[in-house]
Amino acid sequence: MSRRLLVLGSTGSIGTQAIDVVGRSDDLEIVGLSAHSAWEALVEQAVAHGVRRIALADPDAAARAAEAWTDGEVLSGPDGLVRLVVESGADIVLNALVGSAGLGPTVAALGEGIDLALANKESLVVGGELVTQLAEATGARLLPVDSEHAALHHLLRAVPAGSLERITLTASGGPFRGRSRDELADVTVEEALAHPTWSMGGKITIDSATLMNKGLEVMEAHHLFGVPYEKIEVVVHPQSIVHALVETVDGAQLAHLGLPDMRIAIAYALHHPELADLPTRRLRLAELGRLEFEPVDEEAFPCLRLARQAAQAGGTAPCILNAANEVAVHAFLEGRLAFLGIPEVIDATLQEVPAGPVEAFESLYEADHAAREAARRIVERLGERAAARGGAGEL
Ligand code: NAD
Ligand code: MG
Repeated sequence: MSRRLLVLGSTGSIGTQAIDVVGRSDDLEIVGLSAHSAWEALVEQAVAHGVRRIALADPDAAARAAEAWTDGEVLSGPDGLVRLVVESGADIVLNALVGSAGLGPTVAALGEGIDLALANKESLVVGGELVTQLAEATGARLLPVDSEHAALHHLLRAVPAGSLERITLTASGGPFRGRSRDELADVTVEEALAHPTWSMGGKITIDSATLMNKGLEVMEAHHLFGVPYEKIEVVVHPQSIVHALVETVDGAQLAHLGLPDMRIAIAYALHHPELADLPTRRLRLAELGRLEFEPVDEEAFPCLRLARQAAQAGGTAPCILNAANEVAVHAFLEGRLAFLGIPEVIDATLQEVPAGPVEAFESLYEADHAAREAARRIVERLGERAAARGGAGEL
């Protein structure tokens, strides 16, 4: 019998690749789809895959979809998304939303005991222990859809309990690898969006250029695998062939390799514990010749350090960092903030908004809100300062 799958964020980079993976399997049936506002693309997907329930976060888009498509039900707003999760009878939910907006559906799926294939790393960064405790309490499986973490999940199957020494995440280094801080002052949005090895959504592509993505991934790995922060290393590897490594107590290291193709990570999560037969381009090391590794330049890319600091501080600090990052990345993409303004906004927000303990999910929603407000004010302040100096975009 096929398993019922819900794809949240189905019009995005991960969502569309997931639909490709599902199309190659007899084991999965899509029972619901969601997007933010791209209603035409969403309705097209619903028609193509015989799906009868969709959700759009944007109420206007939902209204237009309901008018144009009468073969099924259109749910609307953040509540509609949660209803889609809890009412669809899904066996597995793929959360491929972007940003902390993914926390609600993550909590909804795990709370119902539904297995979760999680691409939305932000919900784990923000929700941390509460999210993993919820999965444990209901018995829902939490399966990562991130190349490094799917690789680690796969590798850790070969490590006996108590034998893990450390884990290593690789980072491509993004489009600005090798540049000094000064050389990053006036990089453009277009340059930042030109990722050297992966084709992804806008937000994660900018996170990869600042290295915040790796900071979020350190937290993601900590929560998924219960590894202490001092045992999670990051190494820059420009070819993105080695996705992650684990070191065991005997000094051996196991690495996960492959040409960059997110369908491997998506299929890993959707088919776990089996491995799907995928038509991916195969890695031949002799053709590649060499692989390179180098340390992270934290002076030029301070976001990784900021993320590690927030992670160590714990409580609502990662939530505040994440919200500030989302606001800053958004402002950068809209041309209202310079590239180096991104870590500046995050740092200033962390200083302005006091972190506290996480008592319940409510603490997170409050911290997220307060951090967004503060970050928006800081972006404006930096913009005014730049204008006063007469240098548009130069902060
Ligand atoms: P994307 O921007 O391409 O797609 C995001 C999807 O979520 C779209 O369908 C969009 O309509 C929907 N969405 C956006 N905001 C929403 C909101 N507020 N409410 C409801 N729906 C919303 O993003 P992506 O690159 O596919 O990334 C999705 C997630 O997967 C991110 O958390 C990212 O960090 C993670 N991830 C992506 C990749 C990749 O290769 N793209 C790799 C690893 C991890
Ligand atoms: Mg990744």
